[in-house]
This record gives sequence, structure tokens and C-alpha cells, in this order.
Amino acid sequence: MAIAYIALGANLGDPASTLRAAFAALDSVPDSRLLARSALYLSAPVGLTGQPDFVNAAARIETSLAPAALLDALFAIEQQFGRLRGERNGPRTLDLDLLLYDLQVITTPRLTLPHPRLHLRAFVLLPLADLDHALSIPGRGTLAAWLPAVATQGIRRLDA
Ligand code: ADP
Ligand code: MG
Repeated sequence: MAIAYIALGANLGDPASTLRAAFAALDSVPDSRLLARSALYLSAPVGLTGQPDFVNAAARIETSLAPAALLDALFAIEQQFGRLRGERNGPRTLDLDLLLYDLQVITTPRLTLPHPRLHLRAFVLLPLADLDHALSIPGRGTLAAWLPAVATQGIRRLDA
């Protein structure tokens, strides 16, 4: 069994409901189990402005799927929630990114682990910190060490 961390993001439709349903979908992935979920956070869009704010969260799962198979399962859930792949950084009903898979380091065109931008984004780091403040990010030190650098990024924790 491996431990994996997944980022959830949505900014179309009813994003908070989508993320709650997506947590359930993660628990239903074959050979996998949802262990913990973060709070939901509201964040301003990055890269492409003039679109609705995002709701973001993170999940910890236990899985016996290999990283590539887990990524396929995440893509299938995105499809199930009606995601159409459009503009990069554009609006989406559901985005699921694989952040960490144990301490594995992988660099392929389809899958990079740890997720290459995870340590730069408040909307990833704050939900992850809910799950494990002392998490190690291979090649980047601890999650806690990156938090001060994103303190000025606009993000707000939503009430459960
Ligand atoms: P975004 O960067 O906004 O998440 P997409 O969800 O459209 O954009 O993903 C773009 C591509 O990133 C996908 O085709 C996927 O194969 C690739 N990718 C590489 N590493 C990862 C990862 N760790 N998690 C999710 N997707 C990844
Ligand atoms: Mg993605």
C-alpha cells in the first residue's frame, strides 16, 4: 500500500458540492481508500483572470494502484464530472492533480512527481497542511518551510 496526496480544484457549476462528491469518488477508486480530507478553500484564479474563483482542497488516500494507474483513475473521475479539457489554467468543473505518491520521484511527459508546482501555490499548500503540516516533499524539503512564501496569495478557508 502507498500513500498518495491529491489536489482537488473546481470553479464552474457548484464547486463546493463538486468537491464533496469528488472526495466520495476518490474513496471509490479500485484498490484505494480515502483516509483524510482537508477543509475547502476559496482562491483567486492563477494565470488566466476574469473567471470565477476556485474552490480547492486536498485528499490523502491509501492505494495499491501504481502511480500511472492512479492518474488514469483521476482522469476518469474528472471525465465523470463533465470536465472538458480547454485552455490551460482555464475554468474547469473538476481538476484532480496527483501531488505526491509516497516519496517517489517521477519525470515522464504524462506524470511528474512530486507535482512540479505544488510548493509554489497557496491553494495546494494550505489544504495539504491541513492533512500533514510536516509533510516531506522530495527534493524540496518540508511543506511547512514553503508556507511563508505563499502567505501573500489571496486564499480563504471556507466554513465546513
Ligand atoms: P493543470 O496543470 O491545470 O492541472 P491539466 O489538468 O489539464 O492541467 O493537466 C495537464 C497535464 O498534466 C495532463 O495531461 C497530465 O498528464 C499532466 N501531469 C503531469 N504530472 C501530473 C500530476 N502529478 N498530476 C496530474 N497531471 C499531471
Ligand atoms: Mg490537472
